[in-house]
Amino acid sequence: VLRIWRMLLGLCDRTVLERVEVDGNAETVVAHVRPKRPKKRRCGRCGRLAPGYDAGDGRRRWRGLDLGTVRVWLEADAPRVACREHGVVVA
Ligand SMILES: [Zn+2]
Repeated sequence: VLRIWRMLLGLCDRTVLERVEVDGNAETVVAHVRPKRPKKRRCGRCGRLAPGYDAGDGRRRWRGLDLGTVRVWLEADAPRVACREHGVVVA
C-alpha cells in the first residue's frame, strides 16, 4: 500500500514514507516522511553539507501534489543547520 502512496505522492527514492493519514471529512491527506539518510544534513538554500544547529520548530508541513480535490501535505522534521554562507537555515 505504501508503494502505491509513494507513486501517487510523487516521492523520490531518497524519501522514506513512514505513514499516511487520510481525513475524509476535511478531504486531506497527510504523508509523514523523512530523508533516507537523516545524519547528513544540507543547507536548504545551497545544498552544501552543513553542521547541525538545532531541531528548529519541530514538525513542519509542506503542500504536496493534490489528488484531485483532496489536499495533500507532506509532514517531516525540520531541523536547522548552520551553513557557512547562509547562516542558520532549515536543512
Ligand atoms: Zn547554504
